Amino acid sequence: MSEPSVFTRIRTGDIPGEIISETENVFAIRDIAPQAPVHLLVIPKTERYRNVGELAAADPGLLGEMIAMAGSLAAEHADGDYRLVFNTGANAGQTVFHVHAHVLAGGLEEKELRA
Ligand code: 5GP
Repeated sequence: MSEPSVFTRIRTGDIPGEIISETENVFAIRDIAPQAPVHLLVIPKTERYRNVGELAAADPGLLGEMIAMAGSLAAEHADGDYRLVFNTGANAGQTVFHVHAHVLAGGLEEKELRA
């Protein structure tokens, strides 16, 4: 078994971090290095999937649950509009290989909207 991911360690209380939303299968935290006024991470509890491609192929329902939570959080923490980003692969900036969605919202700057 490999070590638990940083996200799992936050969820289980092994390292500090607030769980801002949680369902049976999915949870959300604030990104430690926000790139937008609202920058949240939505994460499935299972670590089985390393990236969104693997997740979509194996369990599209779980991906749908992540997207539903992203929408709810954007409505709760911003005006309901949001950008959803899944970095996939190290060369695309992925650093944590436990699939997660970045939810960016709250009045994005021009440079963030062009990215
Ligand atoms: P990736 O680069 O894999 O798409 O996204 C990983 C994200 O996790 C990064 O945006 C990074 O800031 C965030 N992150 C890494 N370590 C921690 C942590 O200990 N706590 C929180 N809240 N976010 C983290």
